[in-house]
Amino acid sequence: AERVLSGMRPTGNLHLGHYHGVLKNWVHLQSEYPCFFFVADWHALTTHYETPDVIEQSVWDMVIDWLATGVDPNQATLFIQSKVPEHAELFLLLSMGTPLGWLERVPTYKDQIEKLKEKDLQTYGFLGYPLLQAADILIYRAQFVPVGEDQVPHVEMTREVARRFNYLYGREPGFEEKALEAVKKLGSKRAKMYAELRVAFQERGDDEALEQAKALLQEAQSLSMADRERLFGFLEGARKIILPEPQALLTTASRMPGIDGQKMSKSYGNTISIRENPEDVIKKIRTMPTDPARVRRTDVGDPARCPVWQLHTVYSNEETKQWVDKGCKSAGIGCLECKQPVIDSILAEQQPMFERAQKYLDDPSLLRSIIADGCDKARKVAQETMREVREAMGLAYD
Ligand code: ATP
Repeated sequence: AERVLSGMRPTGNLHLGHYHGVLKNWVHLQSEYPCFFFVADWHALTTHYETPDVIEQSVWDMVIDWLATGVDPNQATLFIQSKVPEHAELFLLLSMGTPLGWLERVPTYKDQIEKLKEKDLQTYGFLGYPLLQAADILIYRAQFVPVGEDQVPHVEMTREVARRFNYLYGREPGFEEKALEAVKKLGSKRAKMYAELRVAFQERGDDEALEQAKALLQEAQSLSMADRERLFGFLEGARKIILPEPQALLTTASRMPGIDGQKMSKSYGNTISIRENPEDVIKKIRTMPTDPARVRRTDVGDPARCPVWQLHTVYSNEETKQWVDKGCKSAGIGCLECKQPVIDSILAEQQPMFERAQKYLDDPSLLRSIIADGCDKARKVAQETMREVREAMGLAYD
């Protein structure tokens, strides 16, 4: 079955960026695929290792936020990363063959160190966290990973990690020598072609190359039936995918702006929380900066330079957007007027979320049991993958 895997770090309140960037996708995907959604508490420690006390409360608040937005524990498996320690084992095993350069070149690495200047992130854990993420994904053999735009390079790296793992360990033992022997009998020109096709297939996952290599074998009259079968077997053996390559899934708001126009992020202090007090929502939007060139009501404005416009692109329909665009460019509407539909949309969006959250606030034991069940289910899948991984890496001895 095609699985979905995604996680979030419990480092504080979730905000509308998390909702529009990721959670909406979770809610949509949960009825289409088996979904595994996890609280990335170890990932939280990569940046909060000096203040681990924020984590526990954030874990439960975050799970309430998920449920509030419509994540359904009867459809999706919700769990906590640290309660499935197999993630750490896969992380360790993957680390053996992962080139340092892959981690150093991840674009978020230097950006984050710069962005979170007040923290010392020159640590082994912080450098390694995209690889831990790769383990999180690969251990569930997930096909799809709904994330925000900043995470796409991590999913790309996960694909490389998987490809390398399959290449190194996804082969039948001893096949290579046998295959090489058989290839020698192909005659040098064919052998060379065959070898090239095999590399194309194995390293680039080029299926056309696989078919061509098979056709070449069919034609190789000089080969005995046994040799031919061995080579076919080798091709199929090379095909063994232990850890499939995942794909990132983005929403249309994969980089949701905050109330200052930058990407919404706790570290920029420009967030609106998922369950933000409605009065604070109103206050925050009303005091949001607008096009700096529009000082007076009578000045014409440019939506392209206005953070409020960016929120309209997330919240408003075509009609409202046209009303804003025309009104702003002709000074026909004021900035407060322009902000009102955004305020209305956010408050309307929040209403059912407050209602859903209440059930869990009233009875926290519900949360605990949802998570306990989820951890059990996740562990079963993770343990199954680890059995195969250990075997492939030659660790299945007693
Ligand atoms: P913050 O920057 O507010 O601390 P974070 O990015 O550290 O949040 P994570 O747990 O790392 O939080 O991210 C959870 C998911 O939410 C990731 O897939 C990330 O890409 C996504 N995400 C975070 N902020 C936004 C945003 N403003 N727009 C879209 N997606 C976002």
